[in-house]
Amino acid sequence: MAAILGGGLSGLATGYYLIKNNVMNNNNLKLYLFEATSSCGGWIKTIKTKDYTFEQGPRTIRPKGVTGLNTLNMIQDLGLSQHISPIRPDHPAAKNRLIYVNDALHVLPSSFKSVFKKNEPFSKPLIFALFNDIIKPQAQLKDDSIYNFVERRFGKEIADYAISPMICGICAGDAKEISVKFLMKTLFEWEQNHGGVLKGLMRSMFKSKNKENLQLPLSDLAKKAQEENWNVYTIKGGLETFPNTLFSYLKENDVSINMDTRVEEIKFIDTGAVFLKLKTGQLIKANHVYAGVPAYTLARLVYKQHPYLSTLLSEIPFVTVGIVNLYFRGDKSLLAPAFGFLVPPIENSPILGVVFDSCCLPDQNGTVLTVMMGGRWFQQKFGDDPSEANLLQVALQEIDRILHIKDEPASYNVNILEECIPQYVVGHYERVEKIRKYITDENLPMSLVGCSYDGVGINDVIYSAKTQVEEDLPDFKKNMDLNMTVDKP
Ligand SMILES: Cc1cc2nc3c(=O)[nH]c(=O)nc-3n(C[C@H](O)[C@H](O)[C@H](O)COP(=O)(O)OP(=O)(O)OC[C@H]3O[C@@H](n4cnc5c(N)ncnc54)[C@H](O)[C@@H]3O)c2cc1C
Repeated sequence: MAAILGGGLSGLATGYYLIKNNVMNNNNLKLYLFEATSSCGGWIKTIKTKDYTFEQGPRTIRPKGVTGLNTLNMIQDLGLSQHISPIRPDHPAAKNRLIYVNDALHVLPSSFKSVFKKNEPFSKPLIFALFNDIIKPQAQLKDDSIYNFVERRFGKEIADYAISPMICGICAGDAKEISVKFLMKTLFEWEQNHGGVLKGLMRSMFKSKNKENLQLPLSDLAKKAQEENWNVYTIKGGLETFPNTLFSYLKENDVSINMDTRVEEIKFIDTGAVFLKLKTGQLIKANHVYAGVPAYTLARLVYKQHPYLSTLLSEIPFVTVGIVNLYFRGDKSLLAPAFGFLVPPIENSPILGVVFDSCCLPDQNGTVLTVMMGGRWFQQKFGDDPSEANLLQVALQEIDRILHIKDEPASYNVNILEECIPQYVVGHYERVEKIRKYITDENLPMSLVGCSYDGVGINDVIYSAKTQVEEDLPDFKKNMDLNMTVDKP
């Protein structure tokens, strides 16, 4: 009856929430998942040996906010609580986040006290940025780039040295293109409605605190994360344990998981059903489809019948990231105790940043680090036909130049993750609204899940799956007479 496209975290989480809401059992119906490759988990991939863990995609999860707490609820429910490795506020990886500017590494201010002091590379104490916000007039806008917004409200140095590298770290993007609503929706609304961020903050202090948290029942694990104020956490044995456990959960609950099964076209028919055309030529009939594939893939799948929808979907840009994992043998760490460093785009470096994995991830027997490269600047830095050998050479040059590591790595892994991170550029949220409105207006039995729409991180895709499943529950009841059928070509 329901088909999930894509076995990345969003597709797996959609299956989990369909099961949790008893949609299949209540209606005696079957759920199918189609994954194009031979493994589930999408970009989440771990290489684990006795000496090191290489994460090829994501490595840490934030526990904060409704979406973060929701993920912890899911993790406990899946029986993974014992595998969680939290980074608490007193851990060096929580305290020391670095940026590389003017040939030196600088610790970004992380405590209240530090905003009153001058911290290199900033020319004044950060408190001065707040004065800027008080005196600067507001700009009346529907959306803006996060760089413009921060430069206007807090000054150019904050935009260049704090926000731009942060955007590189979160989505490998250019802060001059990314929408302010991506990270600072509330701050932008304060400017729009009250003339400035501080003015908005003052007003909001009179209102009650975010009520969303209170509406979410909290598992013991989520409560612990709140009580201990975890900064981020990771999963022992590698992050891949998470999608692997979800995969097993879906299997145990009778979801038909079809690996190596690429969906090539989606055809909507008048009766409210949908046909999925597989690469093998098979046609699958379902009454609802959850699309957990990237927007550019979905654009191709719906193009024949819905070219306008396809155009909107293909307008969501993605960037390519090069990943170089490095392992150096030896008891003495080659790294300072820190999470890692980011490089602001004005430094014009081929790398986005380096994560000090042996400081943040458990069970590392030596020095482990990951160099992230390219992103929004991938083509500019590495050309149309990049080689893994070139990426490795650049990574080694950069860690020699910046970290003075001259040793030969005992092991390494290079990966080019093509079009892996969506860019929520100015106008993104309005575009997603248009896409969903089109789907509703045309009565298409399809829900959009995954990182292309409602947030690019792990927490976002899980929470988006939950929301989409819960929104569609009434439709399932309405259409339960339609069963999944498989037609031979
Ligand atoms: C390098 C990198 C680092 C990251 N770091 C972090 C981090 O530290 N913390 C964090 O919270 N988030 C991080 N993220 C983001 C996080 O990885 C994503 O939010 C999440 O993995 C997205 O899951 P998804 O299911 O939306 O997409 P995907 O992982 O892209 O899954 C989509 C799936 O669909 C399948 N598919 C594609 N086309 C078809 C088709 N035609 N038919 C069938 N199947 C198809 C694909 O094979 C894939 O398995 C990072 C991402 C990257 C790339």
